[in-house]
Parts: sequence; structure tokens; C-alpha cells
Amino acid sequence: MAKNWRFRTRVIHEGIHPESWQGATLPPIFQTASHRHGSAESLQAAFGGQSTDHIYMRLTNPTNRILEEKLAALEGGQGAVVTSSGMAAVANACLALLRSGDEFVTGNSLFMSTYVLFANVFKKYGITARFVEPTDLEAIKGAINEKTRFVFIETIGNPKMDVPDIAAIAQIAHENGLPLLVDNTLATPYLCRPLELGADVVIHSTTKYLSGHGCATGGVIIDGGRFDWTNPRFEDFKPFVERKGPLAYLDKVWREHHINFGTTQAPLHSYLTMLGLDTLAVRMERHLANAQEVARFLVEQPEIKWVRFPGLPDHPDREVADRQFQDKGYGAMIAFGLKDQETCFRFIRNLRLIYNLANLGDCKTLIIHPYSSQYLSFPEETRQYLSITPDLLRLSVGIEAVEDICADIREALDRL
Ligand SMILES: *Cc1c(COP(=O)(O)O)cnc(C)c1O
Repeated sequence: MAKNWRFRTRVIHEGIHPESWQGATLPPIFQTASHRHGSAESLQAAFGGQSTDHIYMRLTNPTNRILEEKLAALEGGQGAVVTSSGMAAVANACLALLRSGDEFVTGNSLFMSTYVLFANVFKKYGITARFVEPTDLEAIKGAINEKTRFVFIETIGNPKMDVPDIAAIAQIAHENGLPLLVDNTLATPYLCRPLELGADVVIHSTTKYLSGHGCATGGVIIDGGRFDWTNPRFEDFKPFVERKGPLAYLDKVWREHHINFGTTQAPLHSYLTMLGLDTLAVRMERHLANAQEVARFLVEQPEIKWVRFPGLPDHPDREVADRQFQDKGYGAMIAFGLKDQETCFRFIRNLRLIYNLANLGDCKTLIIHPYSSQYLSFPEETRQYLSITPDLLRLSVGIEAVEDICADIREALDRL
């Protein structure tokens, strides 16, 4: 790949090798559970890591490997493992670093299932997540102790829509000998590349913007390959460092967790994700421009009590977002408030264009009332802690004509 090609070119051509695929311009789907080897020596070399030949789909798959190489290149990483969902990626990425009794520091503005995994599921195994305000650097510093193994944040919190300062948090993590993991799902490498800002590991749910069509679930863990795992805090990494050197972490993710938990990506889903990736740059341009326009429109509607979007001039993280996203945009998720839950329900009922469903990052505009859906079973105090209020609606702005999105909202407000 030519080094000076721009992201918009690389997102299409990176990892695509028609010369190896009988001229095919799209990646082949290797729908096979296993791979035949010509000799016992060849299989031994594959098991021993002396060759990268494929063995069995749960371990690796040629279609998945194409996507892994593509996503690693797009984020500026050294290697990647694709998984069956974004949650599989989050779970594996964290568990590779954790033992019973360990702690980690994380923002309190997390994707709902990530919060449940950290707060409730990990707890059963004696692992403590220390939740802090991710935009409060002093709070992050203060939560780190000798048991801490990493810091985890999301590029844009949801539905709080906060934007933590990745470079500053990476510096704090590194001063303490810790890696920084960033879930970059809401920004995508089009808007932000956390590894370039100092993060060590990037995670995505590829289900969202990367695939873009809401047709395939998937996740990925991308290793920057720069963190020093010989640090005495990570003595359990020794065999992985001996085997893979700078990619010790990715080897641990893959060998210990991905293989044994069976979080395999279906090759068809990798293929569908790559179809979507071809249009990531143009979709993101439209997502970002539409979201900016819709946010501006929402602020002007008298029925709407408040709007949270990092692109609004009075958003507390606007300056961090400008720097971090290099003025390309501010994501395409908007949180806003109507009078109360009943008004939100009536509003959703009145919408004709915008879909009411649980997903985000689709090319279609989507809305959800988080309090009565994803957070339905949460105790009231947890909902309050996570800023999930009954008046809150979360909008994932799609790539339709922005006039039509705004008109649908205005008409639904008119009929309240
Ligand atoms: C959706 C999402 C996930 C989980 O991904 P799935 O593919 O649904 O498992 C994780 N993090 C963020 C930020 C997400 O939006």
C-alpha cells in the first residue's frame, strides 16, 4: 500500500489483494471449519507457530485474517483479532489483562453491556472496576493503585456524549506503567485513531459504523504493539513476550481467551464488514455533517429541553473534541430531552422516517428511549449515576437527506 495514500483511499484498498484471489476484487469467503495439511510436519509447524497456516476456524480463518490486517492497518496497529461481536472483543481485551483480585480504572460513561460486564460480571471473579468521570484526569490518577492493570475508556461516551482526552489519559496510564485501552466504536478510525494519540489497544464493535448496514455483528481488538510488557507488573506476560515480543498482548488475547472461549467471527460477517468498510469514509462524512445539522436544529425546537452533542459550542468537551477529531466532526450520536417519559413515547410513536430500535451507527437514522429499554432492569440509583433519565432520547443520525430527518422530528413534535 502506497504510504502517502489518504485514509479515504486506504479504507477501500488496504488489505485487498486481487492478485492472490484469482482476480476477485472482493475478499473470498472461506466457509470451511478446517484446513487440510499435506504432511504431519506442516500441521506441527502450524501448531508450533512456525507457520501462519490455518488449522481450524475457531483459531483463525483466511477471510477473518484479511479483515484483521485491514483494520490493524486503518487504526495504525501491528495486529488484530476479530471476534463474533463487539462485546466478545471488550471481554477478551480486558480478561487477557486480568486475574482474580486485579483492578482496572474505567470511565462511568460506557456502552450498557460493557458497564454490566465490568460492574456485575467481572465482580463475580473478584475483579474490581474503579469507575470515574473519564474527563476528570485527577480522578483517573487517584483511582490507580498497585492492583491496577489498565485504564479503559470510550472515545465518545454514550449517552452522556462526553469526550475524554485520550493523549492526556495515555500519559497518566504510562506514567503508572499501565496500558490504555480505547473502545473507538463511536468515532471510527475516520474520525479518531487512538493509537496515534498514545493508546495501546483499540477495540471496536464492527456491528456499527464499520459495517454500516446493520447486517452483521462483529468486533475487533487491535494491538498497537508498543507497550512494554516486560514491566514487572505484567510478569504473567512472560511466555507471551518470549513467543511474540511486542505483540505479546495480542497473542495472549488470542491464545488464552479467543480460542478457548470460542469467540470466533463468522467469515461471512467479516466479508459483510469489508463490504461496508468500502464506503466508511463517505458514510462518515455524511453522518458527521448530518449530526451537526440535526443538533443545531434540535436546539431551536421549543419542545426540546436540552441537547447533548460534543459539536455544540457550549459542550464542556468541545475543545478536546476539536483537537482530537481535527475538526472533522463530533460523532453522529445525539442525546436530547423532552418533557418526560410519556412525551418521549408519544414522540417515538409519531415518527415515520426514524426507526425505533436498539442499534447505532446504521446508515438509517435510529432512536431509542434508553431508560425503558437497555436500562429497564437497572436500579434507579444506577440509572441516575449513568445519566439515564426518563426524559432522555438517544438519536443515531443516519445518512438520509438531513432535511427529511429534521422534518420527521418537527412533524412528530407537532403531533405530540
Ligand atoms: C455496540 C457497542 C458495543 C458492543 O458491540 P456488539 O457488537 O453489540 O457486541 C461495545 N461498545 C460500544 C461503544 C458499542 O456501541
